[in-house]
Amino acid sequence: MTDIADGITLIDTLLGGVPGRTSGYLVAGEAPAFVDPGAQTSAAHVVATLRAAGLGPDDLAWIVLTHIHLDHCGGAGELAAAFPRATVVVHERGVRHMIDPARLVAASHVVYAEHAPMYGGMSAIPEARVVAAPDGHRVALGAGRELEMIATPGHARHHMSVLDAATGTVIAGDAVGAHLVGGGLYPTVPPADVDIAAGRASLARLLAWRPQVVSASHFGPVGAPADAIAVADEQLAVMGEAALRGWIAGGRDAVEREIERALPLEAAVGTAESAMEWRALAWYQNNFDGLARWAEGAATPPGAA
Ligand SMILES: [Zn+2]
Repeated sequence: MTDIADGITLIDTLLGGVPGRTSGYLVAGEAPAFVDPGAQTSAAHVVATLRAAGLGPDDLAWIVLTHIHLDHCGGAGELAAAFPRATVVVHERGVRHMIDPARLVAASHVVYAEHAPMYGGMSAIPEARVVAAPDGHRVALGAGRELEMIATPGHARHHMSVLDAATGTVIAGDAVGAHLVGGGLYPTVPPADVDIAAGRASLARLLAWRPQVVSASHFGPVGAPADAIAVADEQLAVMGEAALRGWIAGGRDAVEREIERALPLEAAVGTAESAMEWRALAWYQNNFDGLARWAEGAATPPGAA
C-alpha cells in the first residue's frame, strides 16, 4: 500500500500473483471508494487488504471502474459481495455487462487466450447495485469531497478516468498506456474497440485538467504528468500511422512489422525486464490485434463494403 496523494492509497491487486502489474485505489472519506478491484483471481487478496486497512463489511460505499476489462473489473462481483453496502459505478456501456457478465467474459477469454485462467471470470452484480456513469459523473465521498469520472475513450469505448480535484490526481486506468517493472510508458491498445484519435483527444482533455499526479493502472504514478501525457500522445500518433501504413500494405502481419519498426518495445520501455513483462503478459502482442482491427475500420471509407 502506497499513498499516491492525500487520501488516495494504491493497492497492488497482484494480477497472476505478481506484484507491479495491476493497481487499485482506495480513496478515503466518510463514504470511501475503491477504484478498479482488479481481476477475479485477485479478489480475495483485495478484500483481505481492505479488511486489514480497517474496512468492515459496511464501510465501503463505492466500487468505481475505469473500464470493463477483466484485469480492472473482474473482481467487482466478489468485492460487492464482501462489501454489501457498496454501489458499483461504471460507464454507461458497461452496466449490462456487470449485471450479466457472460458475454463479456467469453469475449475477453478469446483475447486473453492461454492467459485467460490468470484473469478468471466475473460474478454478476445485482442490478440495483450498479450505477451508470455518464461523462462528468460525480461520486460523493462525504464532507464535500467527490470523484469526477470523465469519459476517456481510446483504449476502449467504455473507458473513464477518475479525477480527484482535492489533490489534482488522475486515476488514469489505461488512458496514458502502461509502465511495467520500472520501465517507460508504452500504449495498451488491445482488441476490440481501440480508437487512436479518441485516445489522443482523451489525453488532451487530461492535460487540460492540469493534473498534479497521474497514476496508470499498470503500474502506478507516472513522472511529471504533462511530460508523460506528451509521451503517451506521441506514441499513439506514431502507432496509429504505423498501423494504418501496415494494414494498407499487407494486413495484420504488416501492422506488426510496422509497429516493431516505428515504436520498438525495448527502446520505448528502456529495460529488458520491462519488455519481458510486456511479452509475458502478451499485452505487447495483443496490441497488434487491436491496432489491426482499428486500422481496418480507419482505412475503409465510410459507406464502402
Ligand atoms: Zn488494463
